[in-house]
Amino acid sequence: MYYVDSHIHLSDKYYQKYHRIIFDYMRQANVQSICVSEDYNSSLGTLSLKEKFFKDSDLLRVFVGIHPQFAAVSSDLRLFECLFQSKHDFIAGIGEIGLDPTYTNLDPSNTPEKQKIVFEKMLSLAETNNKPVSLHSRRSVNEILEILPSYKIRNAVFHWYDGNKSNLKRINDRGYFVSFGPYLLYSNDKHTLLKESDINLILIETDGPVKYRNCFDGVLTSPSLVVTIVYFASILLKKSFEELSEILYENSTRFVN
Ligand SMILES: [Zn+2]
Repeated sequence: MYYVDSHIHLSDKYYQKYHRIIFDYMRQANVQSICVSEDYNSSLGTLSLKEKFFKDSDLLRVFVGIHPQFAAVSSDLRLFECLFQSKHDFIAGIGEIGLDPTYTNLDPSNTPEKQKIVFEKMLSLAETNNKPVSLHSRRSVNEILEILPSYKIRNAVFHWYDGNKSNLKRINDRGYFVSFGPYLLYSNDKHTLLKESDINLILIETDGPVKYRNCFDGVLTSPSLVVTIVYFASILLKKSFEELSEILYENSTRFVN
């Protein structure tokens, strides 16, 4: 059994000097990282971590993808497809992908249309190659829920789920997963969402290198945090730590395999 960090950006430059420490920890504590990417270069980076450190191990799973923040760089899309085809055997899934109007406000060239083209391209790659997807759905849950049924997607997770309860039900009713992170320890409104989720469709994540406040005091976010989150979630869900660990492991295995 593993503990699984279902969404972390280990190819981010912030982690560069900590790779050895983090990877040793993952091996010793049996923590698996589902390592997501945001554009062509970070996809390349994630793949090289796999080839360099975890070639014969499942402890690091590679997700490649183009994040909505980088949808305006259309040249990435062609390069990305070539990379996807050439490294197909090392790729476990597609992510982090999705839609986010926040980025259109920050950069007018990152239009909703461009984001949709990139997102649909990612979904069609996932469909054709039978890969799960990790979804960024900030301010776009409804739109994503409208688009997803057009594709035969094997499994999807709404990462860092922050929507309302009725959409949570729509997500779970369709068999999609939701994931929760370190903010569970200090954000009471997320407790309700966790408790309302179908327990067989919950995943745990850190989304590192995002830093967390309050009890985490801005320390380095590493996959080691998942054990703490699982423990806290077990209290909220009134399960033993062992039982919830087992359920979450089965969930993540079903999500990726
Ligand atoms: Zn992320």
